[in-house]
Amino acid sequence: MGGAIKATSFGRGFFTPVLSPDQCTSCGTCVDICPPKALSLNSEDVLDVDYDKCFGCGLCASSCDETAISMDKKEDAIEPPANMHALKQAVHASRNK
Ligand code: SF4
Ligand code: SF4
Repeated sequence: MGGAIKATSFGRGFFTPVLSPDQCTSCGTCVDICPPKALSLNSEDVLDVDYDKCFGCGLCASSCDETAISMDKKEDAIEPPANMHALKQAVHASRNK
């Protein structure tokens, strides 16, 4: 029986997990591998994501054999600096505001 997935809120990081409930088998692999324990299966084997804990590492997506999780760039994510020089300039500019 395929499991179901629901999402509760948006969270941190540049990327966010996007869940495909029809492909989830509720195996629990992603739950075990998630570093901040942002994933859980409830009593009905529904996978839930706590986006307040999730920091967008992508381990859940790469661990899922059913490709039930993909990572999307968050709409409000800032563009990371292209290189270290650009990063230093951005940090310097932010300090001088
Ligand atoms: S690893 Fe994939 S199939 Fe298993 S519970 Fe997570 S999302 Fe569902
Ligand atoms: S992206 Fe990382 S932190 Fe977020 S739910 Fe997946 S494994 Fe957990």
